[in-house]
Amino acid sequence: MRKKIIAGNWKMNMTFDEGQKLTSEIVNMFKDENIQDVHIVLNPPFPHLFPVKKLIGDTPGVYLGAQNCSDKESGAFTGEVSAKILASFGAQYVIIGHSERREYFKENNELLSVKVKQALEHGLTPIFCCGESLEIREAGTHEPNVKFQLTDSLFDLSADEIKKVVIAYEPIWAIGTGKTATSDQAQEMHFALRRHLGSKYGKDVAAEISILYGGSMNAGNAADLLSKPDVDGGLIGGASLKSRDFIEIVKSY
Ligand code: 13P
Repeated sequence: MRKKIIAGNWKMNMTFDEGQKLTSEIVNMFKDENIQDVHIVLNPPFPHLFPVKKLIGDTPGVYLGAQNCSDKESGAFTGEVSAKILASFGAQYVIIGHSERREYFKENNELLSVKVKQALEHGLTPIFCCGESLEIREAGTHEPNVKFQLTDSLFDLSADEIKKVVIAYEPIWAIGTGKTATSDQAQEMHFALRRHLGSKYGKDVAAEISILYGGSMNAGNAADLLSKPDVDGGLIGGASLKSRDFIEIVKSY
């Protein structure tokens, strides 16, 4: 049984006080609702990691993640944060290869492959993001395009390693646009990606890998997206910044 995961990507939002308030509310609502079978992952900006971890404490089902990590192990790399440091602060997940990092910080498949390995080496679960631009979607080449992102960054992992990776399919045209993929479009791509993973690692391994959908998921459209058999959760941007909206998504699963 693969994990059901709803992860919040705060991106570059939230002051210290706002982050504390948001976390407390989410943790309390999550406990009050007695949610059992869905994991939530909060991915705040780096300075929030330790205080957010303190608020999460050992709440079952609530995890801490970062939004990025360095490809380097340690040393003279000013401004970078390594997977090793993240793990030492209690992070369990790290988002790798978000389209904003690919676009604005020129992160390519090769670099992301190294980051994934760094994360795994230090016991973090990488949430590996992939997804196509509008141009590629309109050209109809989205499936090979996204499959190649997996092949190029992940397919040198062993079967044991790939089982520890979470994939997030985030069509770029749906991120922050209010325009979500339809649940059928999401299912079609998730199914294709799982089959692609199966072609390399076998069906049983592919069946264990959680594939999340991201891109304008909200309390209104989550239930439909999450009802699809190959959609194993969500990676939520805007709607993860409001506790009620975020918990409504979790509840709709
Ligand atoms: P939105 O939910 O704001 O579209 O962002 C999605 C995303 O990029 C999550 O990583």
